[in-house]
Amino acid sequence: MNKLDSALVTAALKGGGFEIINLEKDADVVLINTCSVREHAEQRVLSHLGFLKHIKESKPNMVVGVIGCMAQRLGAELLKNKTVDIVCGPAQIPQITELVTKALQEKKRTISVTEKIRQLSPEDETLEEFEMVSDGDDSQLPAQAYVRAMRGCNNFCSYCIVPYVRGPEVSRPPAAIIEQVKRLAGNGVKLVTLLGQMVNAYKYDTYCLADLLRMVSEIDGIEWIRFVTSYPTEEYYEQILKAMADLPKVCHYLHMPAQSGSDKILKAMNRNYTAGKYLELIEKAREIVPGLAISGDFMVGFSGETEEDFEKTVSLVEKMRYKNCFVFKYSPRPGTAAEKRLQDTVPEEVKRERNIKLLAVQEKISDELAKEILETEVKVLVEGLSKKAGVNPCGEKGYPQLVGRTAEDWIVVFDGPINLAGEFAKVKITKTSPLTLFGEIQG
Ligand code: SF4
Repeated sequence: MNKLDSALVTAALKGGGFEIINLEKDADVVLINTCSVREHAEQRVLSHLGFLKHIKESKPNMVVGVIGCMAQRLGAELLKNKTVDIVCGPAQIPQITELVTKALQEKKRTISVTEKIRQLSPEDETLEEFEMVSDGDDSQLPAQAYVRAMRGCNNFCSYCIVPYVRGPEVSRPPAAIIEQVKRLAGNGVKLVTLLGQMVNAYKYDTYCLADLLRMVSEIDGIEWIRFVTSYPTEEYYEQILKAMADLPKVCHYLHMPAQSGSDKILKAMNRNYTAGKYLELIEKAREIVPGLAISGDFMVGFSGETEEDFEKTVSLVEKMRYKNCFVFKYSPRPGTAAEKRLQDTVPEEVKRERNIKLLAVQEKISDELAKEILETEVKVLVEGLSKKAGVNPCGEKGYPQLVGRTAEDWIVVFDGPINLAGEFAKVKITKTSPLTLFGEIQG
């Protein structure tokens, strides 16, 4: 969601006559798009502001803006930091060009956030218009783009800040989404990822996510469709999975966080399912879409999590055989139900140990699943140069190292011509690791 917001802000600024550059020290304006989901993310923003403070000492006219969820959460408090000139919440991002221009011209520090975020109007047209700002130039990677299907969240998981910074859940009109995807396809986008905090709850009039997937599938030029993130619930579940099974363009990939394998912890998290129900949903998904790649999210060290609760999480991960898992250590977020009502009982050291242990369990599974792909040929959408390409610019055959992903979201690294970025390639997998497949380009 933040990557999409950054892309839209970039497009809006470019449209307003600004030029995007890489080095902060050369910039007139630096914007930090922020996340409030974890304390660590916010700490990194604060330390980056410290770094910008030094640059500002020799460039006092430089404008620094903090935008996104942290701006909404902290509001005026952020302006106490003298380095910050603009504080702009997620719902005010459409005003960003105006705010930046004003700050540059008038040298005034400004704040623009939503006062009562839960009362944010679902009919807010500026937000809807802003989705279209980019003129199709909002792909973060060649030929790939995120498209927002929904904004906000009404779920109120007890640990989560999102409902308080992104506001109420709103599904965008399907006609607007389709128009946007057509425009992106016209600009060469081949993969769209539909976004929502709980994207499987998409509902607009009589349309659900399965309908949206069908409509997007009919757009010429779009070859792959993904959607994230799914919440474990029966509602629309079969319809969505059947659409995935029926529609060749919909990637066989499901990201469905479980968060914990302990029913006691799930209840305290206000997640409305049990570990047994989650297991049942995953089994159903694999029945409807054989070979489905599933990824999960887990939080370790939540309030009251005992060793026994944690072992239940380990056991769930072992049963699920995820392609990969994102594991986070719990940190109480100010203003959430968990922060107000529950004690942060698990010591940091124990959270760290559990994090490491769970990742190790998953790594073994990912390694086994990756080995099953060895010696097969996979279709990859090429993203561009791999990280290693900068260190070792040309591989054995004089090609640089490229990176791409399969429809199931496996990362694939191989040597190939750079003009393949944004194109599909066939790659034979010759070596695997838990997170990355290595291969040779075919014909
Ligand atoms: S579903 Fe829960 S975890 Fe996800 S954004 Fe909504 S409140 Fe947060």
